Amino acid sequence: MKKIAVLTSGGDAPGMNACVRAVVRTALKSDVQVTGICRGFQGMIEGDFTPLSHLSVSNIIHRGGTFLKTARSKDFLTPEGRKVAFANLQKEGIEGVVVIGGDGSFRGAMTLNTEFGIPVIGCPGTIDNDLFGTDSTIGYDTAVNTVVQAVDKIRDTADAHNRLFFVEVMGRDAGFIALRSGIASGAETVLIPETTTYVNSLIDTLEKGWKNHKSSAIIIVAEGDESGGAYELAKSVGSKFSHWETKVTVLGHIQRGGSPSAFDRVLASGLGNKAVVELLKGETNKMVGLHHKNFVLTPFSMATKHHNKINSQLLELVNVLS
Ligand code: ATP
Repeated sequence: MKKIAVLTSGGDAPGMNACVRAVVRTALKSDVQVTGICRGFQGMIEGDFTPLSHLSVSNIIHRGGTFLKTARSKDFLTPEGRKVAFANLQKEGIEGVVVIGGDGSFRGAMTLNTEFGIPVIGCPGTIDNDLFGTDSTIGYDTAVNTVVQAVDKIRDTADAHNRLFFVEVMGRDAGFIALRSGIASGAETVLIPETTTYVNSLIDTLEKGWKNHKSSAIIIVAEGDESGGAYELAKSVGSKFSHWETKVTVLGHIQRGGSPSAFDRVLASGLGNKAVVELLKGETNKMVGLHHKNFVLTPFSMATKHHNKINSQLLELVNVLS
């Protein structure tokens, strides 16, 4: 290969810039040119391309977001849109593509490969950590740290005023952010989409805490939990506790932003490097991931079909330590 492209797609995640940097510098070391595709698959359709040099990825390793920008592209879901996208790749002389994104982006990459035969490798970039084939996705560790920092601050005010706080975190289909940040911030309990939420048992837990003279309580709720989210719980559970004032904080998009953690920078650098090495070796239709400290490949078909499983030991830990 003489020229490859890199794009970021779907939701942005801290560490995507570090991954693009690794892709560019690894490729250039092998005398392969790199084109940056702006705004994901939409930019591929619109020919929004930019050549990337060693210097164009300087001073980005510490920046959140993605300097290539990202997008969700409806046009790429149509065969006509993808035809235009592939014609643009051909015009530019691109022989392989590294896609940094979540499972939707990998489905897009797979379609590109199936329809036009162009080699594609994916790097898992999503704060949700729900992709099968990697112990951690780019952005997840940073998002968890952001939540923990926020909850530490909430705990101060909760304690000062005897408050019961419901903190809602991201995770429409996955409770990884909620579970990890819940343990790290010492939450009373964690409510996630993967498990059944029993409101009565939550009330019991809180009552026990009150009897043990706890001055405040913090519950972490993933946005996709079946309870309907933090506001619903504040209504149904908070009303049972007159001694605590009930409050809700929805952390929202703050969880996507910020400088990536050291862990995410190292992960993103390793994955970006591995993606290019494998692409140049002739691999295609696979996602690179971290498994037991090794960078490994998983076919897109598996990465997009299965979900990472919640660690039941960690789930149990929340209850034991509550
Ligand atoms: P996140 O996990 O942050 O949501 P994602 O990569 O899963 O990231 P999506 O919006 O699901 O985000 O997908 C990104 C883009 O990938 C879509 O906007 C669309 O352009 C493309 N895409 C998704 N699924 C397909 C598909 N089946 N065929 C072709 N393109 C697809």
